[in-house]
Amino acid sequence: MKVTVLGSGSRGNAIAFSAAGTTILVDAGFPLRTLKRRAASARLRLSDLAALVVTHEHTDHSLGAARLAKAASCVLLASRGTLASLAEAASLPTRVIAHLETVTIGPFGITACRIAHDAAEPLALAIVGPDGEKAALAYDLGGSSPVLRYLLRSADCLIVESNHDEAMLRAGPYPASVRRRIAGPDGHLSNRAAATLLAEACHPALATIVLAHVSEVCNRKELAEETTRRALVARGFGGKLFVADQDAGLQSFDVARA
Ligand SMILES: [Zn+2]
Ligand SMILES: [Zn+2]
Repeated sequence: MKVTVLGSGSRGNAIAFSAAGTTILVDAGFPLRTLKRRAASARLRLSDLAALVVTHEHTDHSLGAARLAKAASCVLLASRGTLASLAEAASLPTRVIAHLETVTIGPFGITACRIAHDAAEPLALAIVGPDGEKAALAYDLGGSSPVLRYLLRSADCLIVESNHDEAMLRAGPYPASVRRRIAGPDGHLSNRAAATLLAEACHPALATIVLAHVSEVCNRKELAEETTRRALVARGFGGKLFVADQDAGLQSFDVARA
């Protein structure tokens, strides 16, 4: 399968997965015109979407979701709690995905896992393509759990949040309440927490890691990359490590079964 990050960060997230002529989009946290423009420059046709999966209702994941689902006349797939929190979803074709349920969309098997974040019912996702290749995505979470580590196991590609540097967050411009929220158990993963999670999930066949949702205020991409790279050296990681950009996303890359 081909993975294209159209953008990732606190100002919007959208990631496309394509295989065997089918594309699904995970999150649509940009205005529809931005999604269309970025998809077009990545040679993706959003009008052909088979499904839009929304991880949770925060606007940086859902801003353009209803308009896109309507424009593409595709099903909107999300947890019951997320769908209930998206007022515009009521008039759209939707499908609930439950914790640890697998839903089939074309060549993809999509499995959801509940994660800790201050939203109604946020999900991490594992997406398995037609050849058994597996990409797993976990962002907007305050910490790991055994069931999340189970979801991420033996993935060929891991897309994981590396949101903030702990020292930069402490010294940053946010009010104390916001800093507490970000660093809290229902907030976001720090570089250190992401590196630990990735080191645990690392296995000899892991080919690609994407660090996502990197803060523009309390982090630097080099810092996020360095922290994870250092943790992975000890695990013998020999794959590719990318950092997704808020505006430029990440150029398409292939995920193949090891
Ligand atoms: Zn977010
Ligand atoms: Zn969120």
